[in-house]
Amino acid sequence: MQTIIHPQLKNDARAARADDILRSCVHCGFCISACPTYQLLGDELDSPRGRIYLIKNMLETDQVAEATATHLDRCLTCRSCETVCPSGVEYVELLDIAREMLVERKALSLKKRVKRWLLRKLLLKTWLVRCSRLLIRILDPILPKSLGTKAILTRGSFAARAPESKLPLIQEQASDIDAAVSVVLLKGCVQQSLTPEVNTALCRLLDEQGVSWQFLGNEGCCGALEYHLGEVDDGRSRMKALIDQLYPLLTDVDYIVSSASGCGVTLKHYADYFAGDPVYRQQAQAVCEKLVDVVELMEQFSWCSSAQRIWVHTPCTLGHGQGLDDRVGALLAKAGAEVITGKQDLACCGSAGTYSVLQPLLANELRGRMQQTWADSKPEFIVTSNVGCQLHLAVDSQVPVVHWLEYLRQHQV
Ligand code: SF4
Ligand code: SF4
Repeated sequence: MQTIIHPQLKNDARAARADDILRSCVHCGFCISACPTYQLLGDELDSPRGRIYLIKNMLETDQVAEATATHLDRCLTCRSCETVCPSGVEYVELLDIAREMLVERKALSLKKRVKRWLLRKLLLKTWLVRCSRLLIRILDPILPKSLGTKAILTRGSFAARAPESKLPLIQEQASDIDAAVSVVLLKGCVQQSLTPEVNTALCRLLDEQGVSWQFLGNEGCCGALEYHLGEVDDGRSRMKALIDQLYPLLTDVDYIVSSASGCGVTLKHYADYFAGDPVYRQQAQAVCEKLVDVVELMEQFSWCSSAQRIWVHTPCTLGHGQGLDDRVGALLAKAGAEVITGKQDLACCGSAGTYSVLQPLLANELRGRMQQTWADSKPEFIVTSNVGCQLHLAVDSQVPVVHWLEYLRQHQV
């Protein structure tokens, strides 16, 4: 796809990179039917190819039409289009460039900008999110059911039971068994606040295998939230802070482990975010080489679970983003669970980071469709790999939705 970059953007490295990505698109349209927003809305401008045209137009005119902001804003960043694209178009990188430009040009409405600002400020304050859990508990009787707060309150009943306060906080080795494997566990900023039982379950499972683990002393956000909202500089600052903590540990650990696939997909792409910074690019690359999703670590051990009937949800960030789509189901089936999976598993549930807050109508429609796919199978549990999907899918679900690590810990035999 040939793009005539606007003279104002001639010296902008982002425009040059976007041009490279645009050239790789051959307009074939294979991506269109794979796109959840196109499936819902039936408008090509809400498909990958349509959005690519809008971005091309933005680079050629240096103008952002209102429609461009609207259609780019509706993208879930699910990467379904990247999975099916025969030309290897790096769509999400192109989208991130465009979203950064939208933010710079204040192309979104004031209301949308305020909503994003609030989300960034609130969600990234771990103590605040923890307080909000308490607040929800107090206000629950008068909150509307549609807010989905029940999902946060009831989920604890499925969790592994050790209270979070008993977890080591600062680089403390948990096991006194001679460890063959040594890992750094990333707690995840939202996960440690809203579903801390996932980290507890993981620690206990690793203890059983004699794995030596440690947390970072002061782990912040991986940067995904801000970066994908177009606040690229803030996102990159958070990435640098995490790299500064992880890089000195690399010689002493075998793996850095992410148990929230939404964080993991960003962490695995860290090196790509520092194209113009050779020092951080090299360090980010070194971090990426040791980074694994928790399923890649856990499948190195043997597990044994009871034969519950479970439906395995594969988040887009695990399947499309990390290419690990069948791995959790395979591990749990090998452990003894009765696993129900299907192609639908790779369709987005609508959670998509902050999407369920910013685009609630589309997000709820996608969730309803996904819940429908498991209704006929009558599973006893839904298991997933990402905190956002877990809380989103739990809303209005008749079946408990848990992280698969909690499930495994709770149903070991
Ligand atoms: S499938 Fe790939 S090459 Fe084809 S239109 Fe979509 S992005 Fe372009
Ligand atoms: S990332 Fe997902 S929602 Fe966005 S264009 Fe691609 S397939 Fe559609």
